[in-house]
Amino acid sequence: MTENTLPTLVIASHNAGKIAEFERILSGWWRIQPQATLGVAAVEETGLSFIENAILKARHACLETGHAALADDSGLVVPALDGAPGLHSARYSGSGDDGNNTLLLSNMRGLQGEERAAFYIAVLVLMRGPEDPAPIVTEGRWHGHVAEAPRGDGGFGYDPLFIPRGEKRHAAEMSPDEKDRVSHRGLAVAQLLKHFGE
Ligand code: IMP
Repeated sequence: MTENTLPTLVIASHNAGKIAEFERILSGWWRIQPQATLGVAAVEETGLSFIENAILKARHACLETGHAALADDSGLVVPALDGAPGLHSARYSGSGDDGNNTLLLSNMRGLQGEERAAFYIAVLVLMRGPEDPAPIVTEGRWHGHVAEAPRGDGGFGYDPLFIPRGEKRHAAEMSPDEKDRVSHRGLAVAQLLKHFGE
């Protein structure tokens, strides 16, 4: 199939890092359209869990565009901080990725060993329409811990601070392809593709 004959899939996100990851992974199967290119504004994320927010975002993009939509709600969970940054990962500090990383380091000052354990989680929801009664839902988790200082300039968000389990490098030091193979989002997308016979 050429790019023009592929079905349209709206990505219900305004996050450039996530959109780039989805385009890399899904562009063979779908014609990817970020919702901003179709004039869709962000919906208020009023859910109390990742899955609730992913459903809200996917349904909103379907309603606004009339196309199938894929939403991802994701974040970094630190059990020693009662799950923070969690649902509020994107706006933890209110001042972007650098501010978020600085606040996380400061809130974890004094924590050591297992207390620095953390995981990324991504919940994906693919809805064929706003009333799709059986959306495809997948989830991936990427376990590791939070470093004492940032390293690397790849990835986005908390990647400079996140050291995946079994790795010495920080996530921001991994290539995009390496990250896709093992990350929370990569795992959730791999499960999604299984629904399409891959
Ligand atoms: P959402 O757009 O509400 O799902 O917020 C996701 C936020 O979680 C991002 O803005 C990042 O702060 C964080 N996050 C999610 N996935 C990743 C990742 O792969 N690397 C780094 N940070 C991530």
